[in-house]
Amino acid sequence: MKPETLAAQALHAIDAATGAIVPPIHLSTTFARDADYQPRGPTYARDESPAPVHAERVLAALEGGAAAMVFSSGMAAACAVFRAACRPGDHVIAPRVGYYALRGWLERFCARWGVGFDLVDTTDLAAVKAALRPGTTRLVWVETPANPTWELTDLSAVAALAHAAGARLAVDSTTATPVHTRPLEHGADLVMHSATKYLGGHSDVLAGALVTAKLDDTWAELAQLRHDEGACIGPMEAYLLLRGMRTLYARVERSSRTAFWLAERLAALPDITVRYPGLGSHPQHALAARQMQRGYGSMLSIQVGGAGPDAALGVIKRLRVWVPATSLGGVESLVEHRYSVEGANTPTPPDLLRLSVGLEHEDDLYEDLRLALAQR
Ligand SMILES: *Cc1c(COP(=O)(O)O)cnc(C)c1O
Repeated sequence: MKPETLAAQALHAIDAATGAIVPPIHLSTTFARDADYQPRGPTYARDESPAPVHAERVLAALEGGAAAMVFSSGMAAACAVFRAACRPGDHVIAPRVGYYALRGWLERFCARWGVGFDLVDTTDLAAVKAALRPGTTRLVWVETPANPTWELTDLSAVAALAHAAGARLAVDSTTATPVHTRPLEHGADLVMHSATKYLGGHSDVLAGALVTAKLDDTWAELAQLRHDEGACIGPMEAYLLLRGMRTLYARVERSSRTAFWLAERLAALPDITVRYPGLGSHPQHALAARQMQRGYGSMLSIQVGGAGPDAALGVIKRLRVWVPATSLGGVESLVEHRYSVEGANTPTPPDLLRLSVGLEHEDDLYEDLRLALAQR
């Protein structure tokens, strides 16, 4: 069946006991054994609570993976991958441009555990190839499209390079979502999501997820790590996540259509640079057209000009519809000045505003921006 069908019905969820078409929320942390002291199903909630397990099955189906695991946040999921994959003396590659908090954590983790670490321009295949240390590099981590400039990494090409060097490829696919890109089909070994964003979709649940192509040793190690350390989600969070995933395709297709429309309109305004993979002006538009389906995502950035951050901050202060808040992927459109958030040694340009397009009417979103930009 098509992913829309699987998502809308949460894998044809019908409760066996009652016929309920909304999965029940089992708050119980423990589950009684049968008369022969055998487990009837789950035994304890840390790995086996029914709603989180249901959410994992849905996400694995949407990504076309062998299995999925949900975590207490996107960061918990991402950090688990590095900790499961790396021993002292190993080497990892991470993107120069990408989710800022992960880069900070990686620097501390690698320094403390003696793991070699290179920040690489993963849009440049020659640079990836040069950074790989065959036999020593365990993991290549990429994010595509990458925060906050939305540059793309060629997943098939990087997967081939990583595999030839004996490394695995893990992809932060938070902003692409399975609607636009299914990284496992392009050769990735692991997909990571901040489910806090599009999968949850309503800015009301913090969660992370991993999806694996194969049930291999790394996956077993990841399962052990989550079991031991307990970075899992509760039934309420899992319920919200399941509920969010039911409308994933409708939400993401709509917000991504609005993002495309806005990107074209904003690019026509004077003295604005728009960064969006759907525009012909995007340096990797051809790759985006090949690697992304059903649109180019709901994230875009604009550069409003000016030497420092002042013009961009002025625009934010004049907006009335766009909400000035961090995060992305919710039903409400958000604007963020990443430069202010990331601090002095960020690679993010000071005049850049990151836009997360939600489900409002496009005219309201455009008019708000047009007026705020006109007063620069
Ligand atoms: C938000 C985000 C994360 C971190 O996820 P949390 O759920 O906030 O821990 C990782 N990667 C990307 C691309 C994100 O947007």
